[in-house]
Amino acid sequence: MDQEILVEVMDVTKSYNRGVRALEHINLSIARGEWVSFMGPSGSGKTTLLNIIGCLDKPTSGLVKVDGTEIGKLSGRELTRFRREKVGLIFQQFHLVPYLNVLENVMLAQYFHSMADETSAREAVERVGMGGRLHHLPSQLSGGEQQRVCIARALINEPMIVLADEPTGNLDKENEDLVMELFRSLHREGHTLVVVTHDDEIARMGQRIVRLSHGRMVTQEDLVCAPRS
Ligand code: ADP
Ligand code: MG
Repeated sequence: MDQEILVEVMDVTKSYNRGVRALEHINLSIARGEWVSFMGPSGSGKTTLLNIIGCLDKPTSGLVKVDGTEIGKLSGRELTRFRREKVGLIFQQFHLVPYLNVLENVMLAQYFHSMADETSAREAVERVGMGGRLHHLPSQLSGGEQQRVCIARALINEPMIVLADEPTGNLDKENEDLVMELFRSLHREGHTLVVVTHDDEIARMGQRIVRLSHGRMVTQEDLVCAPRS
């Protein structure tokens, strides 16, 4: 595997008001092209760590480098721009705009990247198997279909790192399989993936499992990857 480091988390602590420590002294490196799974009980800090790697939030102390940039040194605006260039985010709650159709939801993401290209938005929607539903509203789609639109939206800027927070948490088995197949193809194409999940089978699709408990990293397990068809 290519060992170039894409994400470096060095002695990161995150505290919230009233002394809640969401993360304590986390050290973690993620290689370019790697697929890492985060596991741990509810409240263990998974989302906080993902948000910090995704440049949605800054640590209270410690250092985070993404693609060579120390994100703690960026202003709010610079951080936003950096995130839009480098990161694709997929959430358990889909966060689609309810009054925009599928194509418009994906084009809205393009707008934030200062590009408006209906052809590439269509291609992104087709890629996730939703080309027949371009003009449907989110309310007219199943949960799995909405999540696939979210993946199309996250991919619109070709992000080098894709972060997903319990992406299959609201899906049935069939849609879970479809979504995970998309993740597999993203990984094959060289994207770096970080996936938070409670599901052991999904966690094992990655190359490494990082387990958190009470804001601390408790174990890391390297997975032996059998060749996949
Ligand atoms: P997980 O994703 O593993 O369930 P989180 O990262 O969401 O865990 O939360 C870790 C801890 O930080 C929890 O105790 C949670 O209550 C706390 N926390 C998360 N976000 C905030 C916030 N915005 N303000 C205060 N406490 C928070
Ligand atoms: Mg969470």
